[in-house]
Amino acid sequence: MSDHVLVINAGSSSLKYSLVDSASGEAAATGLVEQIGEERSHHVHHGPKGEFNDEQPIANHEAALEAAVRAFETEGPALADVDIVAVGHRVVHGGDRFAAPALVDDELIAAVTDLVPLAPLHNPANLEGIEVARRLLPDLPHVAVFDTAFHQTLPPYAYTYAVPTQWKEQYGIRRYGFHGTSHSFVSAQAARLLGRKPSELNMIVLHLGNGCSAAAIRGGESVDTSMGLTPLEGLVMGTRSGDLDPAIHGLLARVAGRSAEETDHSLNSESGLKGLTGANDFREVSRRRAAGDERAQLAFDIYCQRIKKYIGAYYAVLGTVDAIVFTAGVGQHSAEVRAAAVDGLETLGIRLDPGRNARSELTVSTDDSPVAVLVIPTNEEWQIAREALTVVRR
Ligand code: AMP
Repeated sequence: MSDHVLVINAGSSSLKYSLVDSASGEAAATGLVEQIGEERSHHVHHGPKGEFNDEQPIANHEAALEAAVRAFETEGPALADVDIVAVGHRVVHGGDRFAAPALVDDELIAAVTDLVPLAPLHNPANLEGIEVARRLLPDLPHVAVFDTAFHQTLPPYAYTYAVPTQWKEQYGIRRYGFHGTSHSFVSAQAARLLGRKPSELNMIVLHLGNGCSAAAIRGGESVDTSMGLTPLEGLVMGTRSGDLDPAIHGLLARVAGRSAEETDHSLNSESGLKGLTGANDFREVSRRRAAGDERAQLAFDIYCQRIKKYIGAYYAVLGTVDAIVFTAGVGQHSAEVRAAAVDGLETLGIRLDPGRNARSELTVSTDDSPVAVLVIPTNEEWQIAREALTVVRR
């Protein structure tokens, strides 16, 4: 069996895992433990014997990983029978300390802990996952793969906010960008599809999932991206607002007596598609729009207008664009979003083929379109596995 990596993505009340063949990207098993710490937790494991479900209460991340290890024993594949070379951990915020994946040691844990103020929703859960996995799987090397690392190539004029200079030094306030693992994977796949080297291509990648972000990629390197200090900035998302006037925070404090925490929570969890329609799932918004719901139509228009604005902005940043790449749940599956996002951009050399787009083919532009429009499934687990391997093979 070829080299496998156990990829772990620990959220605040969930633990997702995948045993990935680093050469082929195939998962020998995947699993998800949800509602950790609640009365009823749900564990699903997909292995060689099919799907296994369990509804036992799972108190914490340690118990969740123990349940995963048990599922590997009973449902397969037995971890001892697989050539596992590393455990790869998704870590959301690497700040400006990590421009590449890194071996987990006490120093890395201290550095990721220092970054908690920048990612209070994500880094504590990621750290919990790392600590639990190191205890349960002490003989394997553990590697942290950062969502921010790919965007560390942004030039200072792209990552610096126009605010008092000392904020950057004192509080780390600057643009970091996220979804880097996906942008990196998808842009490399797009280059392969086009039969060119990443270094020869300029691309705009649109990751449209529950979270959404755009990246301008020149010669394989990220030069601008829509998410900022946190994943809140940029495109409209399932529950996040994306770009807005920062004065809204102050106004709500003055006229509604809302605390910073309350407004932060609303902008992260009660805004975006959910704030506009009550539904955060794009498929539901799409169903309602098809049924003539006006709020769903407005949400769709706002969502697509924002994407189009970023395409225009990043076209200008890059000067020439070889490909626009759509990925993640909405990007891969919604022909209507892709069509609306590039509608009217023929003068920029972006020509969509309606038939190819409706069928979500890999190439959805016409053969004579100067800019290729591509639909490429993301595979963050495979990318994490490959990056983890580069660290243990150094
Ligand atoms: P992700 O975060 O990549 O899993 O993407 C989740 C988002 O993709 C959700 O808003 C889903 O509603 C959306 N999505 C998944 N499948 C489809 C589909 N067939 N058509 C439109 N949106 C979809």
